[in-house]
Amino acid sequence: MDLMEKIYALAKRRGFIFQSSEIYGGYQGFWDYGPAGVELKNNIKKEWWKLMVYGRDDVVGIDASIIMNPIVWEKSGHLTAFTDPLVECKECHKRFRADQEDLLKAHSKEHNNKMEWTESKTFNLMTEVLLGTTEPKEKSYLRGEITQGVFVNFKNVVDSTRVKIPFGIAQIGKAFRNEVTPGNFTFRSKEFEQMELEYFVKPDEKESKTFFEEFKELRINWYKNLGLNPKKLHFHDHEEDKKAHYAKYATDIEYEAPFGWSEMEGIHHRGDYDLSNHGLKYRDNITNEEYTPWVIETSGGVDRATLFFLLDSYTEDGERVYLKLNPKIAPYKLAVFPLLANKPELVEKARSVYSVLCTMYSVAWDDRGNIGKRYFAQDEIGTPWCVTVDFDSLKDNSVTVRDRDTGKQERLPVDKLVNYFQNKLDE
Ligand code: ATP
Repeated sequence: MDLMEKIYALAKRRGFIFQSSEIYGGYQGFWDYGPAGVELKNNIKKEWWKLMVYGRDDVVGIDASIIMNPIVWEKSGHLTAFTDPLVECKECHKRFRADQEDLLKAHSKEHNNKMEWTESKTFNLMTEVLLGTTEPKEKSYLRGEITQGVFVNFKNVVDSTRVKIPFGIAQIGKAFRNEVTPGNFTFRSKEFEQMELEYFVKPDEKESKTFFEEFKELRINWYKNLGLNPKKLHFHDHEEDKKAHYAKYATDIEYEAPFGWSEMEGIHHRGDYDLSNHGLKYRDNITNEEYTPWVIETSGGVDRATLFFLLDSYTEDGERVYLKLNPKIAPYKLAVFPLLANKPELVEKARSVYSVLCTMYSVAWDDRGNIGKRYFAQDEIGTPWCVTVDFDSLKDNSVTVRDRDTGKQERLPVDKLVNYFQNKLDE
């Protein structure tokens, strides 16, 4: 089995990710997150928000609606930009206008002419929805990117808060794309989540380039600090001819997945393209100067990050398989077990330990099978510490704490547990 197959099987077995509508054969391009998956994904989002919003006094968050007035998409250029006859490279999923033969030839050459094109289709990446109760219904769209929700609220945020240029607006939310070839598990889906910062700066070449470079470092370090292997992370600058026409600079943070180096997050200097499209400007309260700010964007995929954290943390140690997830994002920080599930006094004591710890952390309770099976299951979920209540616990109020990565066990008094775990989590 290759790593993708192993992760796919583990994700289902341990409740991370299921096929959407699986009992009806699934639905291509859609995925459901199970009990462990939703915790992992939420923790990734929380860590992102902590760094990008709570950690800065120059960033505020919003949560815009998924369906917006269709004029937004007209103005943003999405309706026209995505209605060309397109073909897609089945190998790397790059899309090209079907009538741009030179580019198609050049791209085939990059793959030594060993790839295939999808059939040419006129398609729009935007997912259409019909609203209203009477015919004709009103055509609208599920957002193709969460970005536009920020731009159309630019003035609202400036007017309702104390932000001053330079400042950022952050958002996390679902986006939808009619991808021609969804695949590589959740990597390319039709419904996915993005975590984005739009950072507004003065229209100044030097200053904006400095911000662009700073955000590049901030973002790649976030992935490294949360444990992704630095050797599997790099920047991939967009070549001049592939770059969006409005982008001054554009780079992707790529991760080396089993299917090759793959985009996880884009960092783009978008100039004044978006705010100009919507006719929005900024007035400096002190100088009274009015201008259209430039935008530096960091746009990451929550699902791609989740998949890469799963792949990266997968560890085989002899017979043992465990997810070496950073405790900050592990679905459960701890698991609590009674040594034997059929001894009421042990269950009661373990319950009391659980009820204290679960007010502080996400804690798994497990009383199935024997202790070995429980360790095995918690390792595969990536739970950093397992706490076992045994007969000695009833006498000395101590428990055994077992470490996921080393397998080592130590005895600790119950009233020292919170301190112990807090120190570990702060490491
Ligand atoms: P790709 O070239 O892989 O199609 P993109 O350049 O179109 O991606 P962006 O529009 O820059 O992607 O979106 C920002 C981020 O949103 C991406 O870096 C990725 O993490 C995520 N993303 C985009 N499309 C998808 C998708 N179909 N499924 C899952 N995540 C996606």
